[in-house]
Amino acid sequence: RDEKFALSNPYMYSYPVLIVKKDNEDVKSFEDTKGLKTSLNVSSNYAKVAEKFGIANISTGAIFRSHISRGTELGKQAAAYIEGGNLVPDELTDALVRARLSEADAQNGFLLDGYPRNLHQVDALDGILQDLQLPLSVVAELDIPDEDIVGRLLRRAEIEKRADDTEEVIRHRIAVYHSETKPVTAAYAERGLLLRVDGTGTIEQVARNLQLALAPFAEK
Ligand code: AMP
Repeated sequence: RDEKFALSNPYMYSYPVLIVKKDNEDVKSFEDTKGLKTSLNVSSNYAKVAEKFGIANISTGAIFRSHISRGTELGKQAAAYIEGGNLVPDELTDALVRARLSEADAQNGFLLDGYPRNLHQVDALDGILQDLQLPLSVVAELDIPDEDIVGRLLRRAEIEKRADDTEEVIRHRIAVYHSETKPVTAAYAERGLLLRVDGTGTIEQVARNLQLALAPFAEK
């Protein structure tokens, strides 16, 4: 049977990560988290999750950054928004996600990190998933206090030197999260899809929390 498994995870300041998987073949190996590395970046949890499930790991922020570093037209259009900690306009972002999710490696499942990030994108994603025939079955939210996020991102700024990791821009991104992205969580909660997960503690603890939350869906 073609059971479908899906996870959306609005993390920290706190945008959704979304996993859609058409079958559960790889789910058992999800319990093996020994390879998890300590990281400053919650997204690396999701990269591990995607790897364990054998599904595509898709981060809209990473795709934008790659366009910027390659100097593409999309990169030029997106750069100022990203550097200011604002959302890139929906029409650019939705088109990017639709194109990426249409690629071959995403057809058997994917983890979507950083999208949807506002209520418009929730609708857009519904349309994309409908076209691809991939329903969403669960959404998980990692709860992390804002101050933890600022500290985490400032440490990341020292190491990764991201242009949008200055304290001012980080605080602005958190404000954007509360005004634009937080309602995404409520929308999925209304659909009965939301799981809340404690996102504080070590990467290993958070990974374990995430695993426990996902286990019932993995066993379906
Ligand atoms: P992230 O790496 O997910 O923190 O994203 C970095 C930046 O990329 C964000 O602050 C936005 O400027 C842009 N971005 C990423 N995902 C989206 C999205 N779904 N909608 C609009 N802008 C986005």
